[in-house]
Amino acid sequence: MKILIATGNEHKFKEITHILPRRTATGEDIDYVSLKDVGGLKLPPEDGTTLQQNAQIKAVYAANETGLPAISDDTGLEVEFLNGRPGVHTARYAGEHADTDDNNRKLLNELEGLFLGKRAARFRTVACLAMPHGKTMSFEGTLNGFIGFGYRGENGFGYDPLFIVEGSRKTLAEMTDEEKNAISHRGKAFRQLAQHLAELKK
Ligand code: IMP
Repeated sequence: MKILIATGNEHKFKEITHILPRRTATGEDIDYVSLKDVGGLKLPPEDGTTLQQNAQIKAVYAANETGLPAISDDTGLEVEFLNGRPGVHTARYAGEHADTDDNNRKLLNELEGLFLGKRAARFRTVACLAMPHGKTMSFEGTLNGFIGFGYRGENGFGYDPLFIVEGSRKTLAEMTDEEKNAISHRGKAFRQLAQHLAELKK
């Protein structure tokens, strides 16, 4: 069985396929392919108002275009003091052409002067599996933490150097890939999806 991971990001493809099962419940091998393997299929814009909608828009489009079961995900950072922002706008928080550093600096500025207890935040990932015949299933994973006062750590990407994990002294960027995957929003969402795939009868 071929399954499309609807991402153009190679790092994400590796991270996700590492979690997903090699076989279905009936012993059928699962062969994961990326957008590159299906002729560089371009995904539609993420214009949904929720992470769930965005994940589903991409997975359903990819499944319809290719006739393969397709998996997509969307992640947002939700800061309590900002009433859940940046949420669906996480990637472009500081503007359409903003880079990671612009986004992180904007976040630090918006929280300036607040003590740690007021800086609660969570990462939330929705992973969606769309079957070519139209059925979809979504799985959610969250990770609670706090936005720190500056950058700490060299690993990871995005907001990782600012995100202090609840119950830990470390930011996500101070964790190894293994440590992060074991607790992360994306890890939790995809482990549920993996369970579902492993139980697939057909
Ligand atoms: P995406 O939906 O996975 O593309 O994520 C949207 C944006 O959220 C990315 O551009 C990153 O800035 C941020 N992001 C997603 N996952 C993580 C993470 O695990 N750590 C830090 N930032 C993340």
